[in-house]
Amino acid sequence: MHQFLTKCDEALTEISSQGRYRRFVALEKLTDRFPYYSVTMEGRTRDILVWSTNDYLAMGTDPQVIEASADAARRYGAGAGGTRNIAGSSPLHVALEEELADLHGKDAALLFTSGYVSNQATLTAILNSLPDWHVFSDAQNHNSMIVGIKGGKTATVHIFKHNDMADLERLLAEAPAEAPKLIVFESVYSMDGDIAPLEQICDLADRYNAMTYLDEVHAVGMYGPHGGGVSERDGVADRITIIEGTLAKGFGCHGGYITGDFKVLDYIRSVAAGFIFTTALPPPTVAAALTSIRLLKQDSTRRTKLFERAATLKAKFLAAGLPVMDSNSHIVPLMIGDAAKATEISMRLIREFGMYATPINYPTVPRGTERLRFTPGPKHTDEMMNNLVTALQQILLPAETQTA
Ligand code: PMP
Repeated sequence: MHQFLTKCDEALTEISSQGRYRRFVALEKLTDRFPYYSVTMEGRTRDILVWSTNDYLAMGTDPQVIEASADAARRYGAGAGGTRNIAGSSPLHVALEEELADLHGKDAALLFTSGYVSNQATLTAILNSLPDWHVFSDAQNHNSMIVGIKGGKTATVHIFKHNDMADLERLLAEAPAEAPKLIVFESVYSMDGDIAPLEQICDLADRYNAMTYLDEVHAVGMYGPHGGGVSERDGVADRITIIEGTLAKGFGCHGGYITGDFKVLDYIRSVAAGFIFTTALPPPTVAAALTSIRLLKQDSTRRTKLFERAATLKAKFLAAGLPVMDSNSHIVPLMIGDAAKATEISMRLIREFGMYATPINYPTVPRGTERLRFTPGPKHTDEMMNNLVTALQQILLPAETQTA
């Protein structure tokens, strides 16, 4: 046997023995009954209520968004047919970039095939532009940013403690005054659901002459009066050099983007391999995203409902004595602290109660902080929440402490 195949066996056995082996649950979305999905498991097909979608605002099943996608498929075809530079740019791509630039109050925007690629490609391109970058990266940054930063061949990387401004300032002060500096961070951190102090980071960036790179993947569509993210909500978008986002979560579609000054984006467009050497986003996806962004820009009803739903679920968990983690965002983590247990609870929720919540295990979160992640949206009703609480109490709490 080739040594790589032996390695596969060993690694998979180890992952399984730690309760971290990942199984896909194939969920068939029921578009007119979202967040219900049809699932076939162990030979049985039934409807499952999903609590862990990143289609936070249910825009992926909005009838206008679906129609825009179907219409674009009929008019422009299923695929872009080329990279952006070779026959893949359509008027839809240009319109979407203009819409995104406007959403964030920036000169320009640039689309990528995913949020992951936008982070990886942009950061690597920036950090290979000059020989002596110093980059300051939040300890909980997403893998796509870590990989992008690692792509910088000569950059010196400083990891600051998560959301810790004193630590960030200490590291900025220690770096050579004249070196080019970049602070890389997120607004809403997706696993703990906490939010970065954007204004303070901008103040430090000003003081130490650093550029700023902000991932708003878990915030766009949901925060700010028009869905421009936490940077819009906090009034600091114009102080951030590059704002990055996804079209796949709050906007319910697919794709990633960056926004910023024209010159900066023109440079990235001209050198970033992950932009240049891949097929442009499919026109139906671009049309759907355009519609979704426009709907969310004009109307805050879905946003308001999202935050009300998240607050209600948190309150119900707390009242029921369930180990909910305090968060000031729309994300509701339930702390379990053990990978095998988190996986087991998730399986019991499906099998016994017809509900699905994703177990989040190492390496996505540190060992000992394994959890179930709930992202209630505008379509999760009080009744669904009450049933969830009852189910979790039965699985997690000793009988005498149950309240329902
Ligand atoms: N940044 C963060 C913080 C993320 O959580 C993710 C995906 N979960 C991404 C970037 C990548 O976005 P996409 O799914 O659009 O590739």
